[in-house]
Amino acid sequence: MNTINSAELRQMLLAAAARIIKNEPYLTRIDSAVGDGDHGIGMKNGMTAVTRFLENADGTQDINALYAGIADAMRQAMGGASGMIFSTLFAGKGEDEAPAQTLTPESLAARMRGGLEAIQALGHAQPGDKTMVDALLPAVEAMAQHTDSFEDLFTAAEAAAQAGMEKTKEYVARFGRAKNLGKRALGHADPGAASTWLLFRAMRDFVTGESSPDPEVPEAEKAENAGHGARKMLINEPVDVVREEAEGFVAAFGKDYAIVPGVNGLVRREIPEGKTALLLGGGSGHEPMFGFMLGDNLADAAANGNVFTSPDPVTIVKTAEAASRGGGVLFLYGNYAGDNMNFDLSAEQLAAEGIPTKTVRVRDDVASAPKDRITDRRGIAGDLLIVKIAGAACAELPLEEAYRGTEKANKNLWTVGVGLAGATIPGQRVPIFTLPDDEIEYGLGIHGEPGVRREKLKKADEITEALLAPILEDSGIQAGDAVVTYVNGLTSTTLMELMILNRRLRQLLDEKGIVVHDMDVGSYVTTLEMAGASITLMKLDDELKYYYDKPCRSPYYNKF
Ligand code: ADP
Ligand code: MG
Repeated sequence: MNTINSAELRQMLLAAAARIIKNEPYLTRIDSAVGDGDHGIGMKNGMTAVTRFLENADGTQDINALYAGIADAMRQAMGGASGMIFSTLFAGKGEDEAPAQTLTPESLAARMRGGLEAIQALGHAQPGDKTMVDALLPAVEAMAQHTDSFEDLFTAAEAAAQAGMEKTKEYVARFGRAKNLGKRALGHADPGAASTWLLFRAMRDFVTGESSPDPEVPEAEKAENAGHGARKMLINEPVDVVREEAEGFVAAFGKDYAIVPGVNGLVRREIPEGKTALLLGGGSGHEPMFGFMLGDNLADAAANGNVFTSPDPVTIVKTAEAASRGGGVLFLYGNYAGDNMNFDLSAEQLAAEGIPTKTVRVRDDVASAPKDRITDRRGIAGDLLIVKIAGAACAELPLEEAYRGTEKANKNLWTVGVGLAGATIPGQRVPIFTLPDDEIEYGLGIHGEPGVRREKLKKADEITEALLAPILEDSGIQAGDAVVTYVNGLTSTTLMELMILNRRLRQLLDEKGIVVHDMDVGSYVTTLEMAGASITLMKLDDELKYYYDKPCRSPYYNKF
């Protein structure tokens, strides 16, 4: 086989999409080991959208139009880091716009090299960083050496991708959620590298007529056993949960809020002309953060991604347009690779439309990176306090000033958390992680991902001390400083337990002479049904105090 026409390309890519969808349990399994368990679902959503697009594109002769359509479908259906990364594999560098009717081994090899280069330009991953680049780069290099036929090309690429994927087991991650695991990720393959390998395996099988086996997963985790042994959930279809929860929210609070047409965005109905709009964003599964934190002196709009997955650029841009009143838009979201990529691309698009934006990436999680790599820290329960500040600041200040005040709050925000039990993503078979009865995860985030270490369960007072100590050390907060504190429950930890932590927190702060301006206790930043809690401190100066003290009103979070 020396040429592939558009009809054959459609068939080959449909086979690749089907292969990924079939292997969703396997991909989920490895992302649960090193990440947040959503990679299989994300790829399945993306490949379902690709399938739909390809099935409706049977008259399309132009290969470049097919690739561009695939990239658009994936970006929108997936969100997250992998939505941007894998859609870029198909979009390539976007330079080769001229219609083309056939592919040759050389032209396909060149196109895949363009995809690799665009992915590296976007995400800055190098070989050895434990990403899909570790599978794609060797595959692209093998393709360049094997252009005699498509059989030859894909056989070499598949073998190189598999070897590259296997090598990722030896690497510590520098990107994505796995990076927070450090050495604990050793021995586990990178999920994106596994997806890349499976794509090549499907394309090789298509051109050679082989039918190679899929990776094994335990019986209990197979797709046909979905739901067995996992938590019972009141849902319809897993793919519909985010849209349906927004519909329920608007059914209750539609006097004040509306769904942004066509996307999973929520927006306030009344936003004053000229106001600096505050747009929150992030994965769903943290309710009432992010989607429901809309109201007076709070956010104006929220772009909601799939569960634990950043929203895609179409959702972000449409939601920002719906909230924009001429005063620009402040983006406020947690510091995660997927959110950063999707929001940055959206900011470029909005700038081209004449809507200025500024960005604050919440990074309060002390346990997620050392102080000298502070911009690597992720955002967790401190989201609540920073939304409070940003909401009040955006109500009074122009964009640049609101940005400056919110970024100041971000620099004065520290959180450390502990997990007692994992969560199950809707439609999944097993929880993201399970813990022995007598153990806790110290330093975990808010995506059901494992923490920095496992410890024996201790008394609440000891846990409170262990959460506060690194915050005080990292922040340098000392006697005489004024703080707001927030004890957050991850969902199924009771208010009773949170109050017990808060009681000890107050004692410790009083003993140290730290001035407690306000304390909040609740479950505003949740993680599906996880059990666990965190402590957040925000250090106040007069300006932050002024904005924190402004009353705010929303369906779930109010301050008077
Ligand atoms: P998330 O990390 O947002 O949960 P997914 O779980 O869907 O997203 O995808 C994770 C995969 O994305 C990783 O396994 C990795 O291969 C890929 N990835 C993440 N960041 C990058 C990057 N900067 N460059 C290349 N690939 C990346
Ligand atoms: Mg993931």
